Amino acid sequence: MKKPKIEVIDKNGSFKVLMKNVPVEIANSIRRIILSEVRTLAIHDVFIFKNNSVLNDDTLAHRLGLIPLKTSRKKVKELLDSVDETDYVTIVLNVSARDKFMTVYSKHLKSKDKEVKPVSNDIVIAKLSPGQAIEAELWARVGSGSEHAKWSPVSVAVVRGLPKISLSKDIPADIAKNLVDICPKNVFILEDDKVKISDPLKCTLCMLCEKEYPEYVKVKIDESSSLLYIEPIGHLPIKDIFEDAFEILMKKLYDFVKLLTEVDINVT
Ligand code: SF4
Repeated sequence: MKKPKIEVIDKNGSFKVLMKNVPVEIANSIRRIILSEVRTLAIHDVFIFKNNSVLNDDTLAHRLGLIPLKTSRKKVKELLDSVDETDYVTIVLNVSARDKFMTVYSKHLKSKDKEVKPVSNDIVIAKLSPGQAIEAELWARVGSGSEHAKWSPVSVAVVRGLPKISLSKDIPADIAKNLVDICPKNVFILEDDKVKISDPLKCTLCMLCEKEYPEYVKVKIDESSSLLYIEPIGHLPIKDIFEDAFEILMKKLYDFVKLLTEVDINVT
């Protein structure tokens, strides 16, 4: 097996991850681990001391639990390795509308740990009328997407083989133009009446081009490399997400190999 190489391409907050020499089966394991096993922080225990807003306590607690928290893998590991009772981060919400209407945002959550904060300041939590107030203490705990989606560090994770597109050399000018027009993802461009491939990673393998002009275009899937498309929510930096996923996968493989050495084979 050749040495794997991973290239992450940032597309305004969503990422195309080109995994060279990583077969689709392995990339899919990484995808599944990212979705459901990478550890992050989320609000899990909510103690409400005062709440006379229109939201009942259960709804308020549920809303708070779904606010994504930004931290680092280092902080998550610190909490996981904690030997005493403080395996959580305390966040305080103390807001009062006094004599005018007020919108409570995620920016009003005050974390007692500077390495933990909401991914955005503008998430609306509640609307308060004059005289209404909320006083609560929230504990953020480590968890993973398999327990609850609030811990999943990504909202989307899709994997597929790499598109491999080949064009014949002698494509007539009119067909070259049609090819550029037919592709819904603008994979082809025209240069001096010749068709060129601009960005093969944009190809969604819809096969329209090959169906229309099979003698000029061939689209194949290279399953020895993979393309992973993910949209992180912001709990962890992208590098931390992958490092945690790799560590979890390595642990699973290690356990599996260990089991293989102990397996009894009975031939009857
Ligand atoms: S398979 Fe579809 S997306 Fe890919 S190059 Fe052909 S037309 Fe474009």
